[in-house]
Amino acid sequence: MCGVIGIYSKSNVATSLFYGMNSLQHRGQEATGMAIDNGEEILRKRAMGLVIDAYTEESLRELAGNIGIGHVRYSTAEGSHDYNIQPIMGFVGGETIAIANDGNLVNYQVLRERLEEEGMMFQTTNDTEVILYLITRYYDGDIVAAIKKTMKVIKGAYSVTALVKGKVVAFRDPNGFRPLVLGRDEDDVIVASENAAIEIIGGQMTRDIGAGEILVIDETGIHSDHFESEDTPKNCIFEYVYFARNDATLDDINAYTFRRRCGEILWEEAPCDVDLVVPVPDSGIPSAIGYAQAAKIPYGEGLVKNRYMGRTFIKPTQKERDMAVKLKLNPLGDVVKGKSIVLLDDSIVRGTTSRNLIHRLREAGAKEVHMRITSPPVKYSCYYGIDTPNRKHLIAANQSIKEIEENIGADSLAFISMDGLARAGKKSIDNYCIACFNGDYPVDPTVI
Ligand code: SF4
Repeated sequence: MCGVIGIYSKSNVATSLFYGMNSLQHRGQEATGMAIDNGEEILRKRAMGLVIDAYTEESLRELAGNIGIGHVRYSTAEGSHDYNIQPIMGFVGGETIAIANDGNLVNYQVLRERLEEEGMMFQTTNDTEVILYLITRYYDGDIVAAIKKTMKVIKGAYSVTALVKGKVVAFRDPNGFRPLVLGRDEDDVIVASENAAIEIIGGQMTRDIGAGEILVIDETGIHSDHFESEDTPKNCIFEYVYFARNDATLDDINAYTFRRRCGEILWEEAPCDVDLVVPVPDSGIPSAIGYAQAAKIPYGEGLVKNRYMGRTFIKPTQKERDMAVKLKLNPLGDVVKGKSIVLLDDSIVRGTTSRNLIHRLREAGAKEVHMRITSPPVKYSCYYGIDTPNRKHLIAANQSIKEIEENIGADSLAFISMDGLARAGKKSIDNYCIACFNGDYPVDPTVI
């Protein structure tokens, strides 16, 4: 999972990119970069770490130019190295192209091997470089035609922003796995992974960029084209369950409303007679509010979050994840002592976070700890840009719900149903990718 942004403006864009990327920081905390077109050349700055630490006032001043793209990165398949920081750049016909992507190509290895056999030398271990090479190979002055030819070859998830010859270009894979939205701030045009990046810099989201859509933004306006394909939209349902910010409205669904409805539906599907409804912050908060209101049971913050931590799920190693859980969430004894509680969380992946939290809530005096989860059991790995572990580490792939309940030490455990998820989104489940629950992958992950 990563975050992308692109701005076409009449004034310098580096500061707006900086704030926009900050608002996308939840999508990746490992590294960040921005590339700015000043009319003569593309300037670039990239660094490991958070956006706030990567840029200074001076470095933003030096990145002077009216057109730019930015990226926040969490390393998924390719490993944590500074050479993988995006945007990455290449050259074609005397022009420089800069490109940044959120997603994962399932046929990356095969395409890379083919390109290497043809003599291409890669600078990264990043699938975005394959997209860059293919675009430069097919580019003969018509960027949309080059992107369409590239989209015929690449398979999987991608939401891309690019700088090409004084233009901002954005395109989204035919299934629309990862989000990409379009907005305006007076004359400025902005594309971004989530609407917050547009709103934070003073603009308004105008619409989603559709699955398979290609946008070119230049001095003549916004030009839309489509890649013809038989694929249908399969938006990643986990964007609503967990990844996107609460204020994200993506493909017509608001994440906060979705999460709150999940809580209400979980109360209908798995009621629990307790003293208190407690969220696992942050994405558990709206669902706990929904559950508490539907159940008419008090809502209480029984876990205190360290606001300065990243997400535990997206730390690269198990040891880091364990330490992060302890640092990140601390039980509030005054709230939970002597109470029976129901804990609302978005997912159980390995089970370590849930086990740790339940154990520590009991230590803090909770009498009973029941668990309600706003996603069905995660049984399959994601191949579309989300760093879920191999199936053998997914607790629900190997244990029944009853076994997981015992394993994590909960008094009871229930997951929302697939039908419940569809009701929360008010759309047919056919509109979503739900492969990590049922193994029905919209794009064959073994494709070559
Ligand atoms: S497999 Fe799961 S996490 Fe991956 S895109 Fe599909 S729904 Fe999202």
